[in-house]
Amino acid sequence: MTDRKTAIITGSTSGIGLGIANSLAADGHAVVLNSFTDSYEDRALATELSKRHGTEVIYVSADMSKADACRDLISQAIETFGSADILVNNAGIQHVAPIEDFPTEKWDAIIAINLSSAFHTSAAAIPLMKERGWGRIVNIASAHGLTASPFKSAYISAKHGMLGLTKTAALELAGLGVTCNAICPGYVLTPLVEAQIPDQMKAHGMDRETVVRDVMLARQPSKQFATVEQLGGTVSFLCSASADQITGTSISVDGGWTAL
Ligand code: NAD
Repeated sequence: MTDRKTAIITGSTSGIGLGIANSLAADGHAVVLNSFTDSYEDRALATELSKRHGTEVIYVSADMSKADACRDLISQAIETFGSADILVNNAGIQHVAPIEDFPTEKWDAIIAINLSSAFHTSAAAIPLMKERGWGRIVNIASAHGLTASPFKSAYISAKHGMLGLTKTAALELAGLGVTCNAICPGYVLTPLVEAQIPDQMKAHGMDRETVVRDVMLARQPSKQFATVEQLGGTVSFLCSASADQITGTSISVDGGWTAL
């Protein structure tokens, strides 16, 4: 790493967000963990991460479906650490249904959490990034930001929108020391995905290996999940000096999905 920055990762008490928090803490950055649950376990996680990496880690509860809460998250990071240098917009939810049956409240929640939150957090963080002449915004999109699948209209619309936001922010910030990029993961083995395997085995009458290869990874040519560590490493790279001229683009971590 270059020097210690403040990194805020939305939706970071599990899965990919936690993998990214772990990687940025290992790089020596001060880390802000976030979810909306505000539990003892959330705070314990911050303490554990701090001890493991010898860097400051705090937990801030903020509901990424609410514009004010998104902006308050950035304010709290600045109040605590004096800066908001690295912003990783990771919080996301999913709902699967045909368009004609898709509940309006699910559409609204997915657009709010998966897309609008990145607008609000970026809007709150950009002024200080510009003032300091250094910043990194990393938006966690998806292979579904580049391709579509049926029954995921809100998720796919939000993730495509996130790539548009990424390019726009990159152009507005070009030459100011602040970059904005997206990462497009394929299927990642998070606890959420792991928990689906037994049900899929039962539903399809298949063993674990067959379910993973033929059902879950049907569109991922490598037939291997991406890992949260690989996603964390990709964010660390985008925050390094090697990535100073990488902006407005997306990096696919999808085992070849979008090359098909
Ligand atoms: P996850 O469910 O394990 O983690 C999601 C995190 O978001 C959790 O910490 C949760 O508490 C938080 N969150 C949810 N709603 C929130 C809200 N309203 N306010 C604040 N935090 C909230 O999911 P994951 O698989 O780690 O996914 C993380 C991101 O990566 C999402 O944006 C997802 O779309 C994207 N992604 C995941 C995969 C995959 O295969 N797992 C693939 C491509 C993209």
